Amino acid sequence: PLDEARAAIARHTRLVADFPSPGVQFKDLTPVFAEPAGFSSIIGALAHGCPEVDLVGGIDARGFLLGGAVARDLGVGVLAVRKQGKLPPPVRTVSYSLEYGTAALEIPADGLDLAGRRVLLVDDVLATGGTAVAAATLLREAGAHVVRVSVIMELAALGGRATIAEGIGPDIEVHA
Ligand code: AMP
Repeated sequence: PLDEARAAIARHTRLVADFPSPGVQFKDLTPVFAEPAGFSSIIGALAHGCPEVDLVGGIDARGFLLGGAVARDLGVGVLAVRKQGKLPPPVRTVSYSLEYGTAALEIPADGLDLAGRRVLLVDDVLATGGTAVAAATLLREAGAHVVRVSVIMELAALGGRATIAEGIGPDIEVHA
């Protein structure tokens, strides 16, 4: 799936200058997802070589689309890691800074046993790594262990990989 995914990404990604703020080039993967071959090859690539996990965490919002499909492929459950203010209480919250602005992520604080779960985190783009670290921190506080972060695209110049190693630990695998 890797070569097919690369071809679909190269062909269909929409690059948008100065969005959502000046100096940021937004990588809009929406058209890639809309291609039948694009979506299935991307899901295969995100799951490719994944160590054993028993839960996929999909990061709001494009990570929901991807995470659900990857979880189905791997035969495990999925957890939506949501932006602040969407879930009913009680919730766990972790705040973080983005490439542009600040934000917070939340998961339910009860009704969900995450102790000892091995988690694959999925998102579309890895930029500074702040979002992935916040999501992994949230899951760790709930007793789970993030073993891998899978993304479609890594903006290597922003150092997300190093931020993840520092913020979560050197054992976590980053798959882009
Ligand atoms: P970061 O926390 O800096 O790694 O940012 C990752 C999150 O922000 C992901 O959920 C991405 O969807 C989004 N994001 C950040 N920068 C970009 C970009 N240049 N193009 C598309 N999405 C981005």
